Amino acid sequence: MGRLNHVVSVSGGKDSTALYLRALERGLPFTAVFADTGNEHEWTYDFVRELPSRTGGPEITWVKADFSERLAKKREYVAKVWPTEGVSAVKVERAVSLLHPTGNPFLDLCLWKTRFPSSKTRFCTDELKIAPMFDAVQKPIFERGGALISWQGVRSEESLARSGLPRLQRINPVPFSLPASMRRLGESWTAYAYRPLIDWKTQEVFAYHRRHGVAWNPLYDNGMGRVGCMPCIMCRKDEMRSIADRFPEHVDKIEEWEALVSAVSKRGNSTFFSVTDDPALSNGWDKDDYDWSLSRTGIRARVEWSKTSRGGLQYDGLALMQADFNTTCNQWGACE
Ligand code: SF4
Repeated sequence: MGRLNHVVSVSGGKDSTALYLRALERGLPFTAVFADTGNEHEWTYDFVRELPSRTGGPEITWVKADFSERLAKKREYVAKVWPTEGVSAVKVERAVSLLHPTGNPFLDLCLWKTRFPSSKTRFCTDELKIAPMFDAVQKPIFERGGALISWQGVRSEESLARSGLPRLQRINPVPFSLPASMRRLGESWTAYAYRPLIDWKTQEVFAYHRRHGVAWNPLYDNGMGRVGCMPCIMCRKDEMRSIADRFPEHVDKIEEWEALVSAVSKRGNSTFFSVTDDPALSNGWDKDDYDWSLSRTGIRARVEWSKTSRGGLQYDGLALMQADFNTTCNQWGACE
């Protein structure tokens, strides 16, 4: 087995901060890495930036997915193929003019896919976190003939899916978004997931920050139960309401993104939260009669819904999604 390389994923949340502190306490040389999705709160960026100087720990490698090449190919595809599929010239022209990199990974990913991720098609974790971390930090380790210990800040009490995760587990480090040949190569590499916080309770995580004299991300003291994308596509109803109340600029941002992604989608409509969570559809409504407009299905409508009590229109999906949350994103310690 080649030289062991410890890699700690940092998201700016409490668990990954505890993980970083734990690695420091163990005195092991380690590499810390943060994947910037372009959809984080500015306090999280500040928190991650300042963590090394506040703790005396190693600098954090900052990675960011780049979709420039894929957007260029998409422009070509749209210009060539959409007209043959009966898409109007106006739509094609508009899409081609907008399918350019903005520099924001989350938005660029959605422009490239011409849609937002959803609970069932959660390509955001792989594309924005796992893959860029693999390319920048993990793959070079294997190319040097080394072995990987991937520190992951997941905890059993967070979900049923995580409760069964072992502390140490052999893994294939290659993201699912990469070709099968690369995945097969990954089988031969020595890579382990290490989850030192697996038995920790939430209070222990905060207590660990206190013990090290490190303040946690201020978002926790400002109504946020979790730190990650703001908002996350899986965010709960109460979280949506808190975000709208305290950080309305993040709702404005998503509203702008919905307009842009809708403009490059064939259907002319794409929403941040999946429309299929709307009970109006699951109750057997005719999809042809459904009001697909952004004013009915977009983030503003979800914010209004988030203010309703049980008597308001309920979307079962968000509650269900929360139960399903963490299956990929958090197993990797990529986000909270
Ligand atoms: S935090 Fe949510 S939106 Fe962001 S990458 Fe993870 S699953 Fe996707």
